[in-house]
Amino acid sequence: MIDSSAFQGKKAAYFTLGCKLNFSETSTFGKMLSELGVQTAQKGELADICLINTCSVTEVADHKCRQAIHRLVRQNPGAFVVVTGCYAQLEPLKISKIEGVDLVLGSNEKANLIQYLSDGFVNRDAGANYKTEKTKDIKSFAPSCSRGNRTRYFLKVQDGCDYFCTYCTIPYARGFSRNPSIASLVAQAEEAVREGGKEIVLTGVNIGDFGKTTDESFVDLVKALDAVEGISRYRISSLEPDLLSDELIDYCAKSRAFMPHYHIPLQSGSDTVLKLMHRHYDRQLFADKIHRIKEVMPDAFIGVDVMVGCRGETPECFEECFDFLKSLDVTQLHVFPYSERPGTSALKIPYVVSDADKRERSHRLLELSDEKTHAFYERHIGKEAEVLFEKAPRGKAMHGFTKNYIRVELPASEAREEYDNQLMTVRLGGFNHDKTALKVESLEVKGEK
Ligand code: SF4
Repeated sequence: MIDSSAFQGKKAAYFTLGCKLNFSETSTFGKMLSELGVQTAQKGELADICLINTCSVTEVADHKCRQAIHRLVRQNPGAFVVVTGCYAQLEPLKISKIEGVDLVLGSNEKANLIQYLSDGFVNRDAGANYKTEKTKDIKSFAPSCSRGNRTRYFLKVQDGCDYFCTYCTIPYARGFSRNPSIASLVAQAEEAVREGGKEIVLTGVNIGDFGKTTDESFVDLVKALDAVEGISRYRISSLEPDLLSDELIDYCAKSRAFMPHYHIPLQSGSDTVLKLMHRHYDRQLFADKIHRIKEVMPDAFIGVDVMVGCRGETPECFEECFDFLKSLDVTQLHVFPYSERPGTSALKIPYVVSDADKRERSHRLLELSDEKTHAFYERHIGKEAEVLFEKAPRGKAMHGFTKNYIRVELPASEAREEYDNQLMTVRLGGFNHDKTALKVESLEVKGEK
């Protein structure tokens, strides 16, 4: 039982690091607390509760988490401080020793975070630090469909991962793959429609693995969501290449609302490195998937994650990866330098890449990415496109995205409040001043708000 009277008039500060999934979860916790009467502390206001949702993808992320905890404790003396997320799961003792931290909740406890918080907050003396369970015991699923401040909703469809890539700590931090039922996700999408939502991004750790828990499949989920009237756009945040089936690609190409937009982690374009990483595919499979997408959706935007400088990536392996990416018809590269994580089996690989080489490789790939994105945008100049615009501060240009994820800019002089969350048909003009978007040449309102 949650004693809501204890929360009336209280203020909370939130801090999130890491992936879309974390942001989505924090936003859901915020919504739950606001239903209990807790307001979000504005800049300069003291918070009674601080909630920090952490990430542990790199050493830098761990460091940022510790800094954020110290800062929030310092800025909000006496506040009840809750730390959750991947770093909390992996280093609960370290975090519980930080002065001012009241509660450390691991991934399994996330599903009952508000109850734990309530118990600890109501009787702080009894609110000892809650230690995390072992990875094997992470079985709960914290549902989340959040809007945040943006036009789009983030619907968490899956959590955890069974893949154990050699460089990754996520399976330890978030547990094994699990998912809620299709029926419950459809219900959340319908709720988003009632709140005026038009676009939903499906989030998760290894989304393509959806269905193991409920004996359903990801394609079935996609079909069920596609039938939810009122949602005009779905995007899938990321899909492992080996789980991106031809059936899914073909369905999305003909679907009502799944956008021609993919985000696929490649990590390396060298088969030697892919083997060292224990990835579940080789570069041929990856290339086949890209060709298939382009065959049925020639204008699809394809973002690709690449990790540079992981152990075992010799200069020859990197050149292979670079040439492979150059040859592929993809739109953007998300480049991450490899970071050593304690407890991962990648640490057993003897060949280590220097920081200087990692920087140089990242730089080359980012340049390649810019060339590809620029060419993709350029091909769309003069074409008609449907854009979903997002709210902008008064006096600033408005931005939105086309179906195939081209960022579009409407100058401040033409921006209107009523265009927010509105589908508009536009003719795409040339690049904006910093080349991060295409300008609108002309527009017309398409849908009702
Ligand atoms: S697929 Fe690999 S990289 Fe992705 S979360 Fe699972 S173990 Fe980590």
